[in-house]
Amino acid sequence: GSCSMLLLTEDSIIAARDKYGRTPVIVGQKDGAHAITSETCAFPNLGYDVCYNLGPAEIVEVKADGITKLKEAEKTMQICAFLWTYYGYPVCEYEGKNVDLMRYESGLEMGRNDDTEVDFVSAVPDSGIGMALGYSQGKGVPYQRGIVKYTPTWPRSFTPSTQERRELVAKMKLIPNKTLLKDKKVIFCDDSIVRGTQLRDNVKDLFDCGAKEVHIRISCPPLIYPCKFLNFTASKSDMELITRRVIQRLEGRHDKDLQEYATTDSPKYKAMVESIREELGLTSLKFNSIETIVKSIGLPKCCVCTHCFDGSSFD
Ligand code: SF4
Repeated sequence: GSCSMLLLTEDSIIAARDKYGRTPVIVGQKDGAHAITSETCAFPNLGYDVCYNLGPAEIVEVKADGITKLKEAEKTMQICAFLWTYYGYPVCEYEGKNVDLMRYESGLEMGRNDDTEVDFVSAVPDSGIGMALGYSQGKGVPYQRGIVKYTPTWPRSFTPSTQERRELVAKMKLIPNKTLLKDKKVIFCDDSIVRGTQLRDNVKDLFDCGAKEVHIRISCPPLIYPCKFLNFTASKSDMELITRRVIQRLEGRHDKDLQEYATTDSPKYKAMVESIREELGLTSLKFNSIETIVKSIGLPKCCVCTHCFDGSSFD
């Protein structure tokens, strides 16, 4: 696992970032006061500006009038790529890179290289929106809201502990726009496919609304290894991942040739993606590559954790 922490003392806060910096710890400042967060979206409306990003394993003591280093940062960083593609709130910045901008740029790059003929590009809201805007720009077709989120009062759909409740939340909060979808060929951008159950239901709804073609584009590569650091993908076992179930079907074992399956455009990768496409009932399916994600984040590959896509790890 991986853990950052804040300790509240009588007159200070001691902040410690996890060993490999998988999650951010950021100090904000206003008029002689300091605040600490992992999500910079907490700052603007409270009047704080970012003044310091802790490095991996760094420990600082923060008082109203200043910051004292208790332990220097380590050099090796493995910040979670999933923060940008899914978890982060769009206005947040980690290591100076804005979440929405990263999503836009990764969609832009994918859209430029996609020759599928469609009427418009849309998003599975909210986390697919930044990518879809970039995709639409890169591909040169309009962005329209084929699905709209009903209300932010529903929790995130992975949060409830039972699958039944997760599916209910996922269904209730997304409403397809029938008028826009009828007889149209549409690309939908989404953040990731974990189990695939939510997406399969959403896609069925889109076809039921009269969509002629539903093409799904995913902002990260296939999730092949469960997260052992943060449990961000919320999967408890390998077999909860749709990729592993497909590999089991194709190979008779869910853990065979994983590196080949993780290699974009290898024959095994293509067979896995095709099998997922078929299972979810999609017209076409494409995943982003690790290279495009890392390029869009703007940090060197060695500084970004991509374990759940390629199994790479420092631990
Ligand atoms: S394994 Fe995946 S979700 Fe976990 S820290 Fe690494 S990139 Fe993030």
